[in-house]
Amino acid sequence: MLDRKSFLQSSLLGLAGISFPLKWKSLSPKTVWQNQPLVVSTWDAGIEANKGAWKILGNGGRALDAVEAGVMVTESSQNCCVGLGANPDRDGFVTLDASIMDEHFNCGSVAFLERIKHPISVARRVMEKTPHVMLVGAGAQQFAVAEGFPLEEQKLSPDAEKNYNEWQKEHKYRPIVNIENSKSHGPHDNIFDLSGHFNHDTIGMVALDARGNLSGSCTTSGMGFKMRGRVGDSPIIGAGLFVDNEVGAVTATGQGEDVIRVCGAHSVIEYMRQGLAPEEACRKAVERIARIKGEGAKQIQVAFLALSKEGEHGAYAIQKGFSYALHDQNDEKLVASKSYFS
Ligand code: ASP
Repeated sequence: MLDRKSFLQSSLLGLAGISFPLKWKSLSPKTVWQNQPLVVSTWDAGIEANKGAWKILGNGGRALDAVEAGVMVTESSQNCCVGLGANPDRDGFVTLDASIMDEHFNCGSVAFLERIKHPISVARRVMEKTPHVMLVGAGAQQFAVAEGFPLEEQKLSPDAEKNYNEWQKEHKYRPIVNIENSKSHGPHDNIFDLSGHFNHDTIGMVALDARGNLSGSCTTSGMGFKMRGRVGDSPIIGAGLFVDNEVGAVTATGQGEDVIRVCGAHSVIEYMRQGLAPEEACRKAVERIARIKGEGAKQIQVAFLALSKEGEHGAYAIQKGFSYALHDQNDEKLVASKSYFS
């Protein structure tokens, strides 16, 4: 049944000239009304990011605007792994990757971008103002500056500098399992994992708006202390992010190389197209990676987060410790993901 609140909301939107299909499909228990806006994003930082997105979604705005505004919150924070305050590469430079995709298969991305505060907005400009999908490095920076984005000072944040100095003592370069638990809400509490390795993560966000349209965004500094020039999955459309407005929207976090290998986000969408619910689809993609990696799967973290066209959401990770943040009109919370290894 359409409850009174939803009915009033849909009537008001109708009066405002916004039309949407009031479809009642055969729904699984977690499924919500098609016209209820909803945003989900990766990790604890998603709680704050979702608030930014909700300012738009909750007012009947477009999912694309919401997913850009949402992750900008994280890009502006002193996060260890997103934006200019993040950990640098092994030569001491912060290099950023981001991508964005809307309901019409429009997409844009930037990679290996330096000294620009909001790579997600540059990715959106690539999508909207160029005939291309992806710009990288100096070319991406040149485009950003031409578009009016200020060139920030090349300077590490105090925390990143501390972490870099620490890392330089050993100069170890190896993949890291990223683990975050709900106690580590401080942006820098989770820089070291339990085995003393450096941590890394990303904010990926997918949203459904009141018109029933989906969009997604993904932004990161990538793996901390990576090789100079290394690009992960986050700016690769089909790997770190994919949106198909008939099916769903998916984002990824974790060891980018292993997400790229299986075209991760796109694979999850295809599993959903075949009829799997979001969590099941994420699980299939994770199992595929685990199969490919064999024993090596124990050394990595990969997580997928998916949202269906109907508003059903779910995630699955290789390692435990992954959670995602949800914001809809009733709730704002962290949801713990199931994992391949327990
Ligand atoms: N997926 C990102 C990358 O590989 C990092 C992460 O999410 O932890 O660049």
